[in-house]
Amino acid sequence: MDRKEEILRLIEEGYRTAKELARHFNVSLMTIYRDLRELEEEGLIVRRHGNIELKREQEIKENICAVCGKEIDLRLAFIYILKGGKKVHACCAHCGLIVVKSLDREKVEVALTRDFITCNPINAFGSYYVVGGSASPCCSPPAVAFADRETAEKFAKGFGGYVADFDEAVLRMEDLMKGGQRVDITL
Ligand SMILES: [Zn+2]
Ligand SMILES: [Zn+2]
Repeated sequence: MDRKEEILRLIEEGYRTAKELARHFNVSLMTIYRDLRELEEEGLIVRRHGNIELKREQEIKENICAVCGKEIDLRLAFIYILKGGKKVHACCAHCGLIVVKSLDREKVEVALTRDFITCNPINAFGSYYVVGGSASPCCSPPAVAFADRETAEKFAKGFGGYVADFDEAVLRMEDLMKGGQRVDITL
């Protein structure tokens, strides 16, 4: 077995650091780092807080926006949980508002995002959005989510943009995208 394959197996077994792996193979740390870098480039492992982990199919999907393919920052994430448990992940409210057109609303069990100020999880359908404006935390034209209209309005005073509830925000976003692009997502 090639050493990289062996490394993957060991990580699966619970090995977490380059040091442990170097000791196991009795090779230098440099050698292990080179293997790890290659595995990382091949998309097979991730390094997180100094630990090595296997990159799992599920994780790949959950980390990547279904709309734009961007890596998802959890503070801005926008998630639709469908009946039956499937999830559609978007990187931010911009992509979240766009992708809803491609979903059957009847099949959406719950939609979650976070309040931009407090970072608390909120029901995306019941939230308020500042669409457009100069604050663009992720994709443009931006949409930023808030738990209540008051905070959204305060934010819009500072950064511009239009305050809307979910359904209106979807329409606004469509306008801003000039009719909106149709997004194909694989479920
Ligand atoms: Zn996106
Ligand atoms: Zn985004």
